[in-house]
Amino acid sequence: MYDYLIVGSGLFGAIFAYEATKKGKKCLVVEKRNHIGGNCYTKQENGINIHLYGAHIFRTSDKEIWDYMQQFCTFNHFINSPIANYKGEIYNLPFNMNTFSKMWNIKTPKEAQEIINRQKNEIATEPKNLEEQAISLVGRDIYEKLIKGYTQKQWGRECKELPKSIIRRIPVRFIYDNNYFNDPYQGIPIGGYTQIFEKLLKDCDVLLNTDFLQDRDNLSAKAKKIIFTGTIDSYFDYKFGALEYRSLDFKHETLDIDNYQGVAVVNYTEYEIPYTRIIEHKHFEFGNQKGTIISKEYPANWNKDIEPYYPINDEKNQNLYEKYQELAKNESNVYFGGRLGEYRYYDMQDVIKSALEFSKKELNLKK
Ligand code: FAD
Repeated sequence: MYDYLIVGSGLFGAIFAYEATKKGKKCLVVEKRNHIGGNCYTKQENGINIHLYGAHIFRTSDKEIWDYMQQFCTFNHFINSPIANYKGEIYNLPFNMNTFSKMWNIKTPKEAQEIINRQKNEIATEPKNLEEQAISLVGRDIYEKLIKGYTQKQWGRECKELPKSIIRRIPVRFIYDNNYFNDPYQGIPIGGYTQIFEKLLKDCDVLLNTDFLQDRDNLSAKAKKIIFTGTIDSYFDYKFGALEYRSLDFKHETLDIDNYQGVAVVNYTEYEIPYTRIIEHKHFEFGNQKGTIISKEYPANWNKDIEPYYPINDEKNQNLYEKYQELAKNESNVYFGGRLGEYRYYDMQDVIKSALEFSKKELNLKK
């Protein structure tokens, strides 16, 4: 008999499994995919670690989490500095003095501030939709070239038809700084993410290609408690209806070119190009391999047969989630965690924090 059956080998499940095993508990991890690691999984090909489920850049402001992760990998000095390509014009992201200088051929923060303030004034009343909201925050030029097409592709709807709440604020920097994040700790694990999961799960039993929902009774009987990190609505057979997600389709290509785009991430911000981003994986680790591997990211409408990536935390879905949460409370010896179990857009550092807090409570850990 196992102490815990852990459904899902992503960050939440793997961290709990590691902490529980360390406390002498016996864990069985079941994973429906043919590999461990959830969406963080990286696959090596030609010496290049491919982020198979999209660019994963680790960052945190929490030193404890940064230190915790050092047990499982060494981070390199990668700093996320993506580029935007709008009809062949290249701009730095996030919006900063490099972006403004290229857009308006100016040099000083004062010049940039004056242009943005002038353009923001176009929206004189309370913004009614995402388009008006974006213009009121950064002005029309940036909106038209760098926000409009990209957002429309991402959500499959025109910005005028999207709620303004999607964009509450747009970070604008009046300094020459292309670092996308503000966190003091940032990097990519040298050698990829999969090694982290191999270490986290090394003392547990792991069954791949095993969907808990297809063999629920048999698997449940193997353990005293269940930690479920799949979608919470699937656990309850979509009793109240399905929670909605945005999904993505990744098209991976191997190219006979050593350096395709000169940076890890390029956002394609015009509507006419159907993908939103191209990732060139070797640049996450400063690779010098012969040839390269790129992935094009296409936004996709979600249905139950494809991977759920981004929870849509609007009012309707949030209310539905709360109904499932009520059912979850009454489910004895079953706990729901992680991005799908808690229906939250968690970044890696958030899910690590949540898994460690849960472990502490569940395993009565002092620290
Ligand atoms: P998951 O990684 O989704 O793991 C859940 C696991 O459970 C999966 O392996 C799944 O196959 C398995 N499972 C589900 N149902 C069942 C079942 N019925 N039976 C058996 N197994 C099941 N975070 C960052 O910090 N930085 C980034 O740059 C970043 N980029 C991202 C880009 C994309 C495109 C996406 C989608 C996410 C990104 N994230 C990023 C977020 C990051 O992927 C998550 O925070 C993290 O993977 C969440 O871990 P998890 O364990 O909650 O979920």
